[in-house]
Amino acid sequence: MIDFHCHLDLYDDPAVVLREIDAMGIYVLSVTNAPAAWEKTAHLAEGHSRVRTAVGIHPALAHTQHANMDLFRSLLPRTRYVGEVGLDGSPNLAPYQRSQRAVFEHVLEACDKAGGRIVSVHSRRAVSQVLASLRAWPNVGVVVLHWFSGNERELVAACELGCWFSVGPSMVTSGRGLALLAEMPMERVLPESDGPFVRVDDRPARPSDTALVISAMQTVWQATEAEVLRRCRENLADLANRIASP
Ligand code: MN
Repeated sequence: MIDFHCHLDLYDDPAVVLREIDAMGIYVLSVTNAPAAWEKTAHLAEGHSRVRTAVGIHPALAHTQHANMDLFRSLLPRTRYVGEVGLDGSPNLAPYQRSQRAVFEHVLEACDKAGGRIVSVHSRRAVSQVLASLRAWPNVGVVVLHWFSGNERELVAACELGCWFSVGPSMVTSGRGLALLAEMPMERVLPESDGPFVRVDDRPARPSDTALVISAMQTVWQATEAEVLRRCRENLADLANRIASP
C-alpha cells in the first residue's frame, strides 16, 4: 500500500500509526506544514524504511512563515521531498493571498535551483494560480497535486504540465472526485490519506484508509484489486526513478 500525503507528526500518537505502517508495509510520504517541524518529523521516521519526510510550508500558515524561508532553504539539501506547499484561495485566507504567493514562489524557486524534487502541492480554490506558478519554474522535478479539486479544463492543463495526482478518501466519496479520478492518467496517480485532517468513520484517517481509494480505483478503472495495487506500485517506482541521482 501507498499513502503519498500524510501528516504523521500531527497524530495524537504517531507511534501507533508507525506500527501500522510497518506491520502493513505501507510506503508513506510524511508531509510537514512548517520548516520548523521537519527535523522532529524526520526523526519520527528513523528506522521506518518506507517513510520519507517532506519539508513544507502549508499555504494556510504561509503568512507566519516568511522568516523561516532560510530554514526551508537550508533543509532542502537534506530531502528529495517537498510538501505540503501551495496556494489556497479559500475566503478565510483572502487577506494572506500576497503572502501565500510570495512564499510559494520562494519555495518553487529554491526547488527549481536544486532540481530533482518531488513536490506535494495543495491547490484548493487556486488551481489556475498554482499552475501559472509551476509554469514559471519548470525544473523543480515532479509535482504531485494533492486532493485536486479543480475543473476538467484545469485538470487537462495540469496533465499537460506533467503533474501527478494523489487521491484521498474524501475525493472518492464524492461524484465529482470520482469523475476527476476517471479523467486522470492512471500512470500518474497515487493514493493518499491526508490524515489526520481527513476523517474516516468519524476518526482521523490513517495510511491504511487508502484501501478506500484502491477500492474506488478498481471501479473507476474497471480493474481488479491486484491490478490496481500493481499499477500504484509501478507508479511509485516510476516517480522514484524520475528523481534518482544520475
Ligand atoms: Mn494535507
